[in-house]
Amino acid sequence: MTANILEATGITKRFDGFAALTSVDFALLKGERVGLIGPNGSGKSTFVNCITGILAPDEGSITFDANDITKTPAWLRARRGLARTYQIPRPFRGMTIQENIEVPLRFAVGHKSARVISEAAQVILDQVGLGEKADLSPKGLTQVELRKLELGRALAARPKVLIADEVMAGLSESEVDEILALLNRLNAEGISILLIEHIMRAVMLFSQRIVVIVAGCKIADGLPDDVMQQEEVERAYLGE
Ligand code: ADP
Ligand code: MG
Repeated sequence: MTANILEATGITKRFDGFAALTSVDFALLKGERVGLIGPNGSGKSTFVNCITGILAPDEGSITFDANDITKTPAWLRARRGLARTYQIPRPFRGMTIQENIEVPLRFAVGHKSARVISEAAQVILDQVGLGEKADLSPKGLTQVELRKLELGRALAARPKVLIADEVMAGLSESEVDEILALLNRLNAEGISILLIEHIMRAVMLFSQRIVVIVAGCKIADGLPDDVMQQEEVERAYLGE
Protein backbone atom coordinates (compact mmCIF):
# COMPACT_ATOMS: atom_id res chain seq x y z
CA MET A 1 0.00 0.00 0.00
CA THR A 2 1.56 3.27 -1.11
CA ALA A 3 1.00 6.67 0.47
CA ASN A 4 1.27 8.29 -2.95
CA ILE A 5 -1.94 9.85 -4.20
CA LEU A 6 -0.32 10.49 -7.59
CA GLU A 7 2.55 8.66 -9.22
CA ALA A 8 4.06 9.05 -12.68
CA THR A 9 6.74 6.71 -13.94
CA GLY A 10 9.00 7.17 -16.96
CA ILE A 11 6.94 9.87 -18.65
CA THR A 12 8.30 10.66 -22.12
CA LYS A 13 6.57 13.05 -24.52
CA ARG A 14 7.77 13.99 -28.00
CA PHE A 15 6.42 16.62 -30.37
CA ASP A 16 7.49 15.73 -33.93
CA GLY A 17 10.63 14.09 -32.63
CA PHE A 18 11.43 16.91 -30.17
CA ALA A 19 11.64 15.42 -26.67
CA ALA A 20 9.62 17.74 -24.43
CA LEU A 21 9.84 15.24 -21.55
CA THR A 22 12.31 12.41 -21.10
CA SER A 23 11.54 9.61 -18.67
CA VAL A 24 10.26 11.78 -15.82
CA ASP A 25 9.40 10.06 -12.54
CA PHE A 26 7.23 11.92 -10.07
CA ALA A 27 5.24 11.13 -6.94
CA LEU A 28 2.95 13.18 -4.73
CA LEU A 29 2.16 11.96 -1.22
CA LYS A 30 -1.36 12.23 0.20
CA GLY A 31 -1.62 15.69 1.73
CA GLU A 32 1.71 16.90 0.37
CA ARG A 33 2.59 20.34 -1.06
CA VAL A 34 5.15 20.09 -3.85
CA GLY A 35 6.62 22.85 -6.01
CA LEU A 36 7.56 22.13 -9.64
CA ILE A 37 10.03 24.59 -11.13
CA GLY A 38 12.18 24.91 -14.23
CA PRO A 39 13.10 27.52 -16.84
CA ASN A 40 10.53 28.54 -19.48
CA GLY A 41 9.96 25.80 -22.03
CA SER A 42 11.41 23.08 -19.80
CA GLY A 43 8.28 20.94 -20.04
CA LYS A 44 6.31 21.77 -16.88
CA SER A 45 2.95 22.40 -18.57
CA THR A 46 3.52 19.43 -20.88
CA PHE A 47 4.00 17.31 -17.78
CA VAL A 48 0.74 18.64 -16.30
CA ASN A 49 -1.01 17.93 -19.60
CA CYS A 50 0.25 14.34 -19.58
CA ILE A 51 -0.78 13.82 -15.94
CA THR A 52 -4.27 15.23 -16.47
CA GLY A 53 -4.88 13.48 -19.80
CA ILE A 54 -4.86 16.47 -22.15
CA LEU A 55 -1.85 14.87 -23.85
CA ALA A 56 -1.03 11.18 -24.19
CA PRO A 57 2.58 10.46 -23.19
CA ASP A 58 4.62 8.37 -25.63
CA GLU A 59 5.95 6.30 -22.75
CA GLY A 60 5.30 5.90 -19.07
CA SER A 61 2.46 5.20 -16.69
CA ILE A 62 0.38 7.21 -14.24
CA THR A 63 -1.34 6.06 -11.07
CA PHE A 64 -3.90 8.18 -9.24
CA ASP A 65 -5.56 7.20 -5.97
CA ALA A 66 -4.40 3.58 -6.40
CA ASN A 67 -5.78 3.27 -9.98
CA ASP A 68 -3.80 3.12 -13.20
CA ILE A 69 -5.10 6.11 -15.16
CA THR A 70 -2.57 6.04 -18.02
CA LYS A 71 -5.36 5.45 -20.54
CA THR A 72 -8.16 7.19 -18.67
CA PRO A 73 -9.71 10.15 -20.53
CA ALA A 74 -9.14 13.63 -19.09
CA TRP A 75 -12.78 14.18 -18.10
CA LEU A 76 -12.84 10.99 -16.05
CA ARG A 77 -9.55 11.86 -14.32
CA ALA A 78 -11.13 15.19 -13.40
CA ARG A 79 -14.29 13.54 -12.14
CA ARG A 80 -12.23 11.19 -9.98
CA GLY A 81 -10.59 14.14 -8.28
CA LEU A 82 -7.55 15.17 -10.31
CA ALA A 83 -8.04 18.90 -10.88
CA ARG A 84 -5.90 21.55 -12.51
CA THR A 85 -5.96 25.21 -13.36
CA TYR A 86 -4.91 26.63 -16.71
CA GLN A 87 -2.10 29.15 -17.08
CA ILE A 88 -4.47 31.54 -18.82
CA PRO A 89 -7.88 31.73 -17.09
CA ARG A 90 -10.74 31.49 -19.60
CA PRO A 91 -13.99 32.01 -17.72
CA PHE A 92 -17.30 31.89 -19.57
CA ARG A 93 -17.74 35.62 -20.11
CA GLY A 94 -21.44 35.45 -20.85
CA MET A 95 -22.23 33.87 -17.46
CA THR A 96 -22.16 35.17 -13.91
CA ILE A 97 -19.30 34.23 -11.59
CA GLN A 98 -21.62 31.83 -9.76
CA GLU A 99 -22.68 30.15 -13.03
CA ASN A 100 -19.00 29.74 -13.89
CA ILE A 101 -18.71 27.52 -10.81
CA GLU A 102 -22.03 25.78 -11.40
CA VAL A 103 -21.04 24.43 -14.82
CA PRO A 104 -18.12 22.28 -13.61
CA LEU A 105 -20.04 21.47 -10.40
CA ARG A 106 -22.99 20.01 -12.29
CA PHE A 107 -20.55 17.97 -14.31
CA ALA A 108 -18.74 16.74 -11.20
CA VAL A 109 -21.70 15.87 -8.97
CA GLY A 110 -24.20 14.81 -11.63
CA HIS A 111 -27.86 15.76 -11.88
CA LYS A 112 -28.69 17.44 -8.61
CA SER A 113 -31.42 20.05 -8.06
CA ALA A 114 -30.71 23.66 -8.99
CA ARG A 115 -30.80 24.58 -5.30
CA VAL A 116 -28.21 21.97 -4.31
CA ILE A 117 -25.91 23.11 -7.11
CA SER A 118 -26.39 26.77 -6.24
CA GLU A 119 -25.61 26.19 -2.56
CA ALA A 120 -22.52 24.15 -3.38
CA ALA A 121 -21.34 26.91 -5.72
CA GLN A 122 -21.77 29.49 -2.97
CA VAL A 123 -19.65 27.38 -0.61
CA ILE A 124 -16.84 27.32 -3.19
CA LEU A 125 -17.14 31.05 -3.89
CA ASP A 126 -16.84 31.76 -0.17
CA GLN A 127 -13.84 29.42 0.00
CA VAL A 128 -11.98 31.40 -2.68
CA GLY A 129 -13.16 34.77 -1.39
CA LEU A 130 -15.56 35.65 -4.22
CA GLY A 131 -18.81 35.15 -2.27
CA GLU A 132 -19.81 38.80 -2.60
CA LYS A 133 -19.34 38.78 -6.37
CA ALA A 134 -21.47 35.73 -7.20
CA ASP A 135 -23.97 37.57 -9.40
CA LEU A 136 -21.47 39.72 -11.30
CA SER A 137 -19.88 39.04 -14.65
CA PRO A 138 -16.27 37.79 -14.70
CA LYS A 139 -15.54 40.65 -17.10
CA GLY A 140 -15.15 43.03 -14.16
CA LEU A 141 -12.74 40.86 -12.18
CA THR A 142 -9.14 41.87 -11.42
CA GLN A 143 -6.24 39.53 -12.22
CA VAL A 144 -6.10 38.11 -8.70
CA GLU A 145 -9.88 37.58 -8.66
CA LEU A 146 -9.68 35.78 -12.02
CA ARG A 147 -7.08 33.44 -10.53
CA LYS A 148 -9.38 32.81 -7.58
CA LEU A 149 -12.24 32.03 -9.97
CA GLU A 150 -9.95 29.66 -11.86
CA LEU A 151 -9.12 27.91 -8.56
CA GLY A 152 -12.83 27.83 -7.70
CA ARG A 153 -13.62 26.11 -10.98
CA ALA A 154 -10.97 23.50 -10.19
CA LEU A 155 -12.45 23.03 -6.71
CA ALA A 156 -15.86 22.27 -8.17
CA ALA A 157 -14.61 18.78 -8.98
CA ARG A 158 -14.01 18.15 -5.23
CA PRO A 159 -10.40 17.33 -6.01
CA LYS A 160 -8.06 15.09 -4.07
CA VAL A 161 -5.18 16.59 -6.04
CA LEU A 162 -4.95 20.15 -7.31
CA ILE A 163 -2.36 21.13 -9.90
CA ALA A 164 -1.94 24.90 -10.00
CA ASP A 165 -0.09 25.99 -13.16
CA GLU A 166 1.34 29.49 -12.67
CA VAL A 167 -1.65 30.87 -10.79
CA MET A 168 0.44 33.74 -9.40
CA ALA A 169 2.08 35.12 -12.54
CA GLY A 170 1.78 38.89 -12.80
CA LEU A 171 0.33 39.36 -9.31
CA SER A 172 1.62 41.81 -6.69
CA GLU A 173 3.38 40.54 -3.60
CA SER A 174 0.30 40.88 -1.40
CA GLU A 175 -1.87 39.20 -4.04
CA VAL A 176 0.62 36.33 -4.19
CA ASP A 177 0.24 36.04 -0.42
CA GLU A 178 -3.56 35.88 -0.80
CA ILE A 179 -3.31 33.00 -3.26
CA LEU A 180 -0.73 31.27 -1.05
CA ALA A 181 -3.07 31.54 1.94
CA LEU A 182 -5.88 30.08 -0.14
CA LEU A 183 -3.73 27.17 -1.34
CA ASN A 184 -2.59 26.52 2.23
CA ARG A 185 -6.21 26.44 3.43
CA LEU A 186 -7.13 23.95 0.70
CA ASN A 187 -4.13 21.83 1.64
CA ALA A 188 -5.17 21.92 5.30
CA GLU A 189 -8.57 20.61 4.20
CA GLY A 190 -6.82 17.57 2.75
CA ILE A 191 -6.08 18.45 -0.88
CA SER A 192 -2.63 17.45 -2.11
CA ILE A 193 -1.16 20.25 -4.21
CA LEU A 194 1.37 20.49 -7.02
CA LEU A 195 2.34 24.14 -7.52
CA ILE A 196 4.04 25.12 -10.77
CA GLU A 197 5.44 28.57 -10.23
CA HIS A 198 8.20 30.96 -11.25
CA ILE A 199 7.95 33.23 -8.21
CA MET A 200 10.63 31.64 -6.03
CA ARG A 201 9.53 33.38 -2.84
CA ALA A 202 6.12 31.72 -3.22
CA VAL A 203 7.60 28.33 -4.13
CA MET A 204 9.93 28.38 -1.13
CA LEU A 205 7.16 29.46 1.28
CA PHE A 206 4.70 26.89 -0.01
CA SER A 207 6.62 23.73 -0.84
CA GLN A 208 7.50 20.87 1.45
CA ARG A 209 9.47 19.46 -1.48
CA ILE A 210 10.69 20.87 -4.78
CA VAL A 211 11.08 19.12 -8.13
CA VAL A 212 13.15 20.71 -10.90
CA ILE A 213 12.70 19.99 -14.61
CA VAL A 214 15.24 21.30 -17.12
CA ALA A 215 14.94 20.60 -20.84
CA GLY A 216 12.43 17.83 -20.19
CA CYS A 217 14.53 15.98 -17.62
CA LYS A 218 14.06 15.91 -13.87
CA ILE A 219 17.35 17.13 -12.39
CA ALA A 220 16.41 17.49 -8.72
CA ASP A 221 13.77 16.33 -6.24
CA GLY A 222 14.05 16.98 -2.51
CA LEU A 223 13.81 19.39 0.39
CA PRO A 224 13.61 23.02 -0.82
CA ASP A 225 16.84 24.20 0.82
CA ASP A 226 18.78 21.16 -0.41
CA VAL A 227 17.45 21.43 -3.96
CA MET A 228 18.21 25.14 -4.26
CA GLN A 229 21.81 24.51 -3.22
CA GLN A 230 22.42 21.97 -5.96
CA GLU A 231 24.93 23.22 -8.50
CA GLU A 232 22.94 21.93 -11.46
CA VAL A 233 19.84 23.83 -10.32
CA GLU A 234 21.79 27.03 -9.84
CA ARG A 235 23.31 26.68 -13.30
CA ALA A 236 19.90 26.14 -14.92
CA TYR A 237 18.64 29.38 -13.40
CA LEU A 238 21.74 31.44 -14.10
CA GLY A 239 21.47 30.36 -17.73
CA GLU A 240 17.96 31.79 -18.03
P1 ADP B 1 6.92 25.13 -19.57
O1 ADP B 1 5.51 24.95 -19.09
O2 ADP B 1 7.94 24.51 -18.67
O3 ADP B 1 7.25 26.57 -19.86
P2 ADP B 1 5.99 23.63 -21.90
O4 ADP B 1 5.65 22.33 -21.33
O5 ADP B 1 4.88 24.57 -22.19
O6 ADP B 1 7.08 24.36 -20.96
O7 ADP B 1 6.83 23.43 -23.23
C1 ADP B 1 7.93 22.54 -23.31
C2 ADP B 1 8.43 22.48 -24.74
O8 ADP B 1 7.51 21.75 -25.54
C3 ADP B 1 8.59 23.83 -25.40
O9 ADP B 1 9.72 23.79 -26.23
C4 ADP B 1 7.31 23.98 -26.19
O10 ADP B 1 7.52 24.81 -27.32
C5 ADP B 1 7.03 22.55 -26.60
N1 ADP B 1 5.59 22.28 -26.75
C6 ADP B 1 4.65 22.36 -25.78
N2 ADP B 1 3.44 22.02 -26.23
C7 ADP B 1 3.60 21.70 -27.54
C8 ADP B 1 2.72 21.25 -28.59
N3 ADP B 1 1.42 21.05 -28.34
N4 ADP B 1 3.26 21.02 -29.81
C9 ADP B 1 4.56 21.21 -30.05
N5 ADP B 1 5.45 21.62 -29.12
C10 ADP B 1 4.98 21.87 -27.89
MG1 MG C 1 4.01 26.35 -18.58
